[in-house]
Amino acid sequence: MKNTSIWLDGIKKQKFRKLEKDIDVDVLIVGGGITGVSSAYHLSTGDLSVCLVEKNKLLEGVTSRTTGKLTYLQENIYSKLVNYHGKENSKLYLDSQRDAIKLVRGIIDSNKIDCNLEKVKSYVFDFKDIESVEEEIHLLNEFGVDLKLSDVLPSGENINSSYFVDDTYVFHPLKYLSKLVDICVERKVDIYEDTKVVSIDEEDGYYICRTDNNLIKAKYVVIAVHYPYFLFPFLMPFKSYLEKSYIEAFKVKKNYNFSAINISKPIVSTRFYENNGDVYQILLTNSHNYCFKNNEEKNFEELFKSDERDTLYTWSNKDIMTNDLLPYIGRLNDSNILIGTGYNTWGMTNGSLAGKIISDIILDRKNRYIELFNPHRKLNLGSFLNFPVALFSSAYSFIKTKVSKNKEWYSNRVRFEKRNGKNVGIYVDDEGEEHIVYNLCPHMKCSLIFNEIEKTWDCPCHGSRFNIDGKSIEGPSNYDITYSEE
Ligand SMILES: Cc1cc2nc3c(=O)[nH]c(=O)nc-3n(C[C@H](O)[C@H](O)[C@H](O)COP(=O)(O)OP(=O)(O)OC[C@H]3O[C@@H](n4cnc5c(N)ncnc54)[C@H](O)[C@@H]3O)c2cc1C
Repeated sequence: MKNTSIWLDGIKKQKFRKLEKDIDVDVLIVGGGITGVSSAYHLSTGDLSVCLVEKNKLLEGVTSRTTGKLTYLQENIYSKLVNYHGKENSKLYLDSQRDAIKLVRGIIDSNKIDCNLEKVKSYVFDFKDIESVEEEIHLLNEFGVDLKLSDVLPSGENINSSYFVDDTYVFHPLKYLSKLVDICVERKVDIYEDTKVVSIDEEDGYYICRTDNNLIKAKYVVIAVHYPYFLFPFLMPFKSYLEKSYIEAFKVKKNYNFSAINISKPIVSTRFYENNGDVYQILLTNSHNYCFKNNEEKNFEELFKSDERDTLYTWSNKDIMTNDLLPYIGRLNDSNILIGTGYNTWGMTNGSLAGKIISDIILDRKNRYIELFNPHRKLNLGSFLNFPVALFSSAYSFIKTKVSKNKEWYSNRVRFEKRNGKNVGIYVDDEGEEHIVYNLCPHMKCSLIFNEIEKTWDCPCHGSRFNIDGKSIEGPSNYDITYSEE
């Protein structure tokens, strides 16, 4: 079994060199996931000079570990959105998701991209809460969606109550995006990997972005880093929390051509993926607030409750959930800094849309979704009620890691020690070599836990991740925790 996402296995993507000189561009895009690459794609059609920098490798962040559904049936989001933003905005969000699917399909068709795109039925079901299903069905009917009802999935499982549409898709997200990267290169977008932006300062109407060794001067900066807190006080931690899920892929005999997700927690989500005659079922379970369940071995074990299947790939992923359920896409204050984040686990549609909205703002084009996703929209009472939960969950994890190292979670390959007066974590690899890191997250000083399945040091408070040698692989921390004897 491989502890990696099925999308990363065998994917062919271009490699790019590290930035080693100072440069001057119209638009700098920071981050090479679906948001950054989609923004680069749309911006590359104009006359602006565009540069994209990625601190690690392109398309190896959250985007590489998605389930790859392109759907507008997103649990029971529309009835929830009515409570937060009213019926009109709930309908506008529905339109945005359908437009995002059209946008991606259009790009795939016009560029003849081979990315296993399949039209499938998309089901939403619930094991118990029939009322919430009924409310959502009523609303979607009112919005004119052609919904059908069913109490059985195409694969034969009986479900309490469900509804489905038949105009949604699944695809191979990395085949799609790596082709967009190729197109960007053809259109002269300048791309660098292993190039981390560490600060952004405004000077005479330009932004001076500092990387490890160089400066990039830009008129516009697109922050597409998934978790954009490190650069400025946008107060994201008070407006969002993280949700983590566990995923496995195993071979099955038949492609039932559907995707499904349930409404009440824990979320179960599934789809099929067919490649070269092999059919895989991809199954996501055990989603939870990132701060609360940190024993990774136990979390992964939940996946393997059934011994009927032979799991070939397993991985985890986490996404930013906003308190008012809408993404943050657009311009920050009156600046020329733009962000795209907070996709609530629907970033294949929202990240694609973010690329279009961001490019429309920069190119001074109209876009009907700019106000809906405005990062500075007013937070309503409902969002404020979620704020104490976000605050409590981070504080809870912070205190928990200071009180206990939970040594019983780990094998004898993981140790915690003091070296030169500093707390360190040590992982011993298969060859017996010790990998030592500082056991303190640079972001807000939480102690780290070790994820022995995926071999990463994880911050249980805000989700930063580091590899076994301390290199930062996911934010909010933008800094490494590499240990040095000096
Ligand atoms: C379990 C799970 C399943 C999901 N399934 C689906 C699905 O089926 N359908 C759907 O629509 N959505 C799904 N999503 C959501 C979707 O995967 C994400 O919302 C989306 O991939 C986020 O993309 P991104 O571009 O914001 O982030 P990323 O892909 O993480 O890209 C950000 C990039 O920025 C880089 N970076 C960070 N800091 C810096 C810096 N300082 N300098 C340079 N580069 C930097 C990072 O290294 C990274 O590569 C799922 C999410 C989860 C958690």
